[in-house]
Amino acid sequence: MKKWECTVCGYIHEGDEPPEECPICSADKSMFVEIIEEQQSSRDQTELPTTAKVEPTLLGKVYAFASEQILRHHLHPISVHTPNGVLPMALLFLLITVLFGLPHFETAAFYSFVFVLLTMPVVICTGYEVWQKRYRGALTLTFKIKIGASIITVTLLSVLSLWRAVQPDILTIPSTGRWIYVLLSIILVSAVGSAGHVGGKLVFGSRKN
Ligand SMILES: [Zn+2]
Repeated sequence: MKKWECTVCGYIHEGDEPPEECPICSADKSMFVEIIEEQQSSRDQTELPTTAKVEPTLLGKVYAFASEQILRHHLHPISVHTPNGVLPMALLFLLITVLFGLPHFETAAFYSFVFVLLTMPVVICTGYEVWQKRYRGALTLTFKIKIGASIITVTLLSVLSLWRAVQPDILTIPSTGRWIYVLLSIILVSAVGSAGHVGGKLVFGSRKN
């Protein structure tokens, strides 16, 4: 039985042929290399292209240090728990306001949106570093979903926060606008959930049960 390794995420496939698509990171067949005996890991052995050796600038050293810390201390998985943890709660609070007319919950949701928006630069920068360093910046479907979800998240958080700031009673007074507001919030939570789902697959693998 031959063994094949995904050069993007390191997934090992056993079979005569590599799979059509990596179940972990959705890289296609061409991204798999056969593992030959005595060759531990093609990923470890393949040298990344290096640029001309020049003394790094201070800024370059700071960047290299920050990048190393992001990967070593898992700062992306830690930071993504902010949108993934807070936004479903904020949506629940919005629904409580709309259904039961309790305005304090809506205020909490608004602060939650602003708070998560402020953390998004950390989520995106750490995610970018992990993508570049650990997955070689491969633009497979998995990473397209994550990038798309982060664009949707930042856009909707900005729109919803600004809308609420300009029109504080958007959710407390019945109108068509408030249902659009709730709908956009549902799309927001769905985008964050999708990114979390594919991220979970990357970290924990694809389990069928
Ligand atoms: Zn893969």
